[in-house]
Amino acid sequence: MRAFFEDENVLAFFTDRNGGFSKSPFDSLNVSHNVGDNVSDVVKNRELIADKEGFLLENLVYMRQVHSSRIEVVKNSFLSEIKDTDGLITDRRKIPLMAMSADCATVLLYDKKRKLIAALHSGREGTFKNIVKSAITSLKDNFDSKSEDIYAHVGPSIGVCCYEIGKDLAYLSQEKFGNSYIVEKNGKYYLDIKNMLKAQLLNEGIMPEHLKISDICTSCDKNYFSYRRDGRTGRFCGIIMLK
Ligand SMILES: [Zn+2]
Repeated sequence: MRAFFEDENVLAFFTDRNGGFSKSPFDSLNVSHNVGDNVSDVVKNRELIADKEGFLLENLVYMRQVHSSRIEVVKNSFLSEIKDTDGLITDRRKIPLMAMSADCATVLLYDKKRKLIAALHSGREGTFKNIVKSAITSLKDNFDSKSEDIYAHVGPSIGVCCYEIGKDLAYLSQEKFGNSYIVEKNGKYYLDIKNMLKAQLLNEGIMPEHLKISDICTSCDKNYFSYRRDGRTGRFCGIIMLK
């Protein structure tokens, strides 16, 4: 799936789980080395994506994601895996940034004016910590970015239809963020991460017409990896690169 803001200066897309080399339960286009999949299959999958999309795999920068709101500004691609981080930012060309997920949201940001990019992993914890705000603040502090120039595409993630949470977490969420993001149905509680992310992006000054949230639910749509649905499984990704 292409990011809606792609132009001649930026490559930006989300993968799904189809067309790769990995065997069950990682079938088939798993991009993560941290889920127990065969290393060579993951490398082949990444090569496939790199060849198709036109970037150099050795330049790919990705994260050992830990559900934090920590952002790293990437200055080169010497260190391919960045530890303990959930957001990457760069102003450098030809360095693809990758965020991986199975249910969590991957968020791609693009400042069209100053040519800046970000890839974020924002699951429930990252969203509660407002990693989107951390990333946009970092873009502003490091590169003088302005909200009105930033485009945001939130990739496929688990929908409110499937994201059941316990009572304690529902109360915590209501306490912290108000009533808007919890749906109560038949005595069960469901969390609406997509709408929470939307509110966070709008709060940071992203213009509604510069914002897209995928309505695909990864738990409903079998074209995507879903941790909730499948447990042990692969990861798909969002990748963004300045050309
Ligand atoms: Zn669903």
